[in-house]
Amino acid sequence: MNNDDMASATHPRQFSGVGVAPGRVLGAVRQMPKPVQEPLATASTATDAGAEAQRIKDAAKSVQAELRGRAAAIEGEGREVLEATALMAADPMLVKSAIKLLAAGTPGGARTAERAIWEAGAGVAEKLKALGGYMAERVADVLDVRARIVSELRGLPAPGIPASDAPFILAAEDLAPADTATLDPAQVIALITSSGGPQSHTAILARALGLPAVVAAPGVDTIADGTEVYVDGAAGTITEEPGAKLKLAAETWAEQAFALAAFAGSNALADGFAVPLLANVGTGADAVKAADAGAEGIGLLRTEFCFLDRDKEPTVEEQISAYGAVFAAFPGKKVVVRTLDAGADKPLPFLTNADEPNPALGVRGYRTEMTSPGVLERQLEAIAAAEALHQAQVWVMAPMIATAEEAAQFATLCAAAGLQTPGVMVEVPSAALTSSTVLREVAFASLGTNDLTQYAMAADRQLGPLAILNDPWQPAVLQLVKLTADGAALASAATGLPKPVGVCGEAAADPALAVVLVGLGVASLSMSARALAAVSAVLGTVTLAQAQELAAKALAAPSATAARAAVRAGLPVLADLGL
Ligand code: PEP
Ligand code: MG
Repeated sequence: MNNDDMASATHPRQFSGVGVAPGRVLGAVRQMPKPVQEPLATASTATDAGAEAQRIKDAAKSVQAELRGRAAAIEGEGREVLEATALMAADPMLVKSAIKLLAAGTPGGARTAERAIWEAGAGVAEKLKALGGYMAERVADVLDVRARIVSELRGLPAPGIPASDAPFILAAEDLAPADTATLDPAQVIALITSSGGPQSHTAILARALGLPAVVAAPGVDTIADGTEVYVDGAAGTITEEPGAKLKLAAETWAEQAFALAAFAGSNALADGFAVPLLANVGTGADAVKAADAGAEGIGLLRTEFCFLDRDKEPTVEEQISAYGAVFAAFPGKKVVVRTLDAGADKPLPFLTNADEPNPALGVRGYRTEMTSPGVLERQLEAIAAAEALHQAQVWVMAPMIATAEEAAQFATLCAAAGLQTPGVMVEVPSAALTSSTVLREVAFASLGTNDLTQYAMAADRQLGPLAILNDPWQPAVLQLVKLTADGAALASAATGLPKPVGVCGEAAADPALAVVLVGLGVASLSMSARALAAVSAVLGTVTLAQAQELAAKALAAPSATAARAAVRAGLPVLADLGL
């Protein structure tokens, strides 16, 4: 052990959590400021309304200047967000109404500057909300400006992602969607949070941006700003004062990450057995990025993502253009279009009922055909028309299919629209259990392991505290995958037709689990484009026979933890690559 290691071995604090995105990095921590607390209703000591009014004016000016400066320094969507907030800070309405409140006082005593701006912000937000439309959309900006002015008055750091001249590791309790609009991946090199689970917004964002991340690591929100730490996003650890060994690990990762950033565009196991790697996308822009990342096709086009902001059904023309933008990025390649999967975490006002008591078990996915007949037929018409305009090989699948009858009805609708390759998502356990009959009706299946896990384990996929149950490594979920693949083989033998089963749930993006899925009989894997290189690097180290052996070990394990450990022990490449 050298001096450097000895020094760090005496005092380093280590934090453990759930690693949700791999990577090993070293950097200084910046804490996400805590949410702004509501100021007390009245001042505890006498205040001078004139002086308080001046404090408000000065604080509002500093906030404007700070926001303008930050907006000028960045590009893209983040810049627009900051510019909009700066404009709101410059609007005299908020400051004027706060000064009026200072003058008015309250029966309980005088307001402080902080309290006056707080109440003024609430009043302005109410008025904007009542105006509706564009004005109502500004409510979040007003509340953000209010929080910034209160922080400035208190001499505390501004809320939101901290500004920094150097790259840093962002520590927080958890990140909200609004916090992330200004997150610049060139500045933030890793995310660590004290709460949140593997399905939290932090985890999803980290995976999409390819940032190493650890969530649910108690204590990381107490690390002092500027402290140097080492983050291992696969092991789920954060170490203060890293020594030479950890510095070397981070350097090695940086070199490997460079190699892992590139996918060759054609995936095979060590024995040459081809397992196409496809991408999950929601829009034409995503499809262009996926094509650039080397995806061999699209395994899941979530069509509802094109229309999440709509309260009316999109026209056939709009749909042709949205789907065509994806087909255009993959000429000659497979593109699997999923028909609208509205409901639960993805409500579409024109298809789903917001008042259902149990939305995950409600009229969602393919079931909306029962309550809104015609929408699916028009969507299939649009998919067929877009197919005719492009060269992509279009496959179409329905979400939330539960029975062979539903599969047959969907195949009939596809045939009527002139679509040649109908398929189903297998994400309801009943479809997995009866896949030999379901797959007689259609040409292929794609396992939606996100929903299959939530339904097999009866654990809402959106709930952090149920993360342990919501784990696709659970033996029950692996059994359902195997049953689906085995049933498809029976359907293939009975019909004399190929019945390929792919996976398009998040499980496909876990390199170790990808090996197991292939070993269980899965023919292709579809994932976020960022995961392609790592999954391919690991699949390339095993033969089909080895993948089958590892799958058998996972199936025989008594728990998700044991299954994961057994497979990881058989895949040393994971540790070598820091995955
Ligand atoms: C799934 O359930 O695994 C899936 C891919 O669909 P979604 O995540 O869109 O529900
Ligand atoms: Mg699903």
